[in-house]
Amino acid sequence: MKENQTDTRVRVRFAPSPTGPLHIGGVRTALYNYLFARRHGGTFILRIEDTDAARFVPGAEEYINEALAWCGIEVDEGVREGGPHGPYRQSERREIYLQYALQLVAAGAAYYAFDTPEALEALRAETEARGGTFAYNHAVRGLLETSLRLSDDEVRARIERGDQWVIRFRMPEGEDVVMHDIVRGEVVVNTSALDDKVLFKSADGLPTYHLANIVDDHLMEITHVIRGEEWLPSLPLHYLLYRAFGWSATQPVFAHLPLLLKPSGQGKLSKRDGDKLGFPVFPLSWRDPATGEVSRGYREDGYFPEAFVNMLALLGWNPGTEQEIFSMEELIETFSLDRVGKSGARFSPDKALWFNAQYMHTRSDEELGRLFLPILSEHGISVGLDVAARVAGLVKTRATFVSDFWDLASFFFVAPAEYEQKTVEKYWKGDNPERVREVRSTLAALGDFSAASLRETVQGLIAVREWPTGQVMNALRLAVVGASKGPDMFDILELIGKAETLRRLDRALEII
Ligand code: GLU
Repeated sequence: MKENQTDTRVRVRFAPSPTGPLHIGGVRTALYNYLFARRHGGTFILRIEDTDAARFVPGAEEYINEALAWCGIEVDEGVREGGPHGPYRQSERREIYLQYALQLVAAGAAYYAFDTPEALEALRAETEARGGTFAYNHAVRGLLETSLRLSDDEVRARIERGDQWVIRFRMPEGEDVVMHDIVRGEVVVNTSALDDKVLFKSADGLPTYHLANIVDDHLMEITHVIRGEEWLPSLPLHYLLYRAFGWSATQPVFAHLPLLLKPSGQGKLSKRDGDKLGFPVFPLSWRDPATGEVSRGYREDGYFPEAFVNMLALLGWNPGTEQEIFSMEELIETFSLDRVGKSGARFSPDKALWFNAQYMHTRSDEELGRLFLPILSEHGISVGLDVAARVAGLVKTRATFVSDFWDLASFFFVAPAEYEQKTVEKYWKGDNPERVREVRSTLAALGDFSAASLRETVQGLIAVREWPTGQVMNALRLAVVGASKGPDMFDILELIGKAETLRRLDRALEII
């Protein structure tokens, strides 16, 4: 299929294991799958791969759903959405897998192995004592407790008497597997280096990841597998499984996404990097049910989901232009797998902040005002949405997060309790206090207290008196704000109003 072509047969899946919170790398995988599906008018499937009971973590699946919803990644088929290929949780598909494992045994592509964990442990220890590394592979499989060595009767008898068994893939020996990956091109791996992976375990009656993943991708008619680079080493086995099942002709196309790297560029981005450098590596905050440890999330840190998604989209993909700001719609229009890079994408916490600030600047005053209201009420300030929105509008270009608003704008709501010393030294000197006093009298007589009228009046006075504008305006600002910060002075005065302006000027004239 050509890139950028509508093809409703496109079916992609995001297949996380519910083993904890989704790392931002996982969210990026989901996002690329989603963009690819939407780009082609295809279907985006969410499949929960929970066959490894030992690694199951309560709450993780809910977390995945909530994180995708927060990002605006809409699932077409999944556990909650349903769909024609359900169930979409592998633990609910358990009856499906054994027959496929047995099909491989019958075809000679897989075999039963009865080795106990203790026996394997002993072998491993023995091999290591000789300086080797133990691998369950072509070299040893014939010597072990397998259906390749035991007679059919013996195998049947062992199964019937309840011995534990697994089914292992019989990895061919010395074969070059030639694979194609959209991101990496042709990849060739010789099977001699690969071991005989377990496909199914009698102990819990469940398949392992490899078998369940291939069977489900086949049954769910997945056309493209887009996943993280950490799965590339599994690709030869997956190719060989498709071949052993006779499904090669319809096997999906593969695209392995580059790793997300630490800010230093050295190594994979981990939770510890986030803790150390002070940025979240999870979309939403997460409380570990076992330890109670809480990890930060982008949502709780105050990121806009659109900014988060925009940043993630560009970690590994580039549009081929200078454009950096993309809405979800624009991403869908522009995304293509052939612009996904091979080399790891370095995560930059500063860039994440930058993206949020960009989105902050374009947010409507009203939306920001609404987000500001609860912060104001935490500080005991109760004002209407109109005031909160106006103030938000005045400070938003200086803010990265809504939580910055209070620091940037508290002076709109509370008079300064103290005056910044260095500003006092710089501007509250010479004739400036007297000038402020004159400004105060002029404003006391002013009827129209709009920013425009204030500007005209104060600038007029400064011109007539031939005062140095910077000196006077900064002294005025010090008196009203308590420091040399804040948006346009006349906007501030209009907003706090005449009575409050005069009160603050009087107080400054009295105590500074
Ligand atoms: N369950 C695997 C994971 O947790 C899926 C890998 C794949 O997409 O094949 O990432």
